[in-house]
Amino acid sequence: MSTLFEKIISREIPADIIYEDDICICFRDIEPQAPTHLLLVPKKVITGIGVAHSEDQKILGHLMITIAKIAEQQGFNSNGFRVIINHGIDGGQTVDHLHLHLLAGRALNWPPG
Ligand code: 5GP
Repeated sequence: MSTLFEKIISREIPADIIYEDDICICFRDIEPQAPTHLLLVPKKVITGIGVAHSEDQKILGHLMITIAKIAEQQGFNSNGFRVIINHGIDGGQTVDHLHLHLLAGRALNWPPG
């Protein structure tokens, strides 16, 4: 069975896609927690950061570099932004397909709730 994010990648489910390459896709979160809330998702299904393996190193590195490029392109480097990966129940993960949240556009609280 496809994950929700695979359905977005295949255009089965619509999303506001702002970036895509052969390794990952970035689109707006449907329930934004900040003025800008993006999700960056690898096309390969890794169910969570806690189960990523060394074979996924290239993908994980690509996600980090790409989220930085997107943040810069969106103009968030001067005021800053936050990148979050939730894992498991206590981490608040609801979709079992690895994704980076990029939150920006307001001052974010620390520690998070
Ligand atoms: P998690 O809780 O797993 O870290 O993050 C999952 C995110 O996916 C949530 O922020 C949620 O709002 C977002 N989300 C859930 N369903 C959809 C959807 O159908 N479309 C989009 N664009 N985002 C979704």
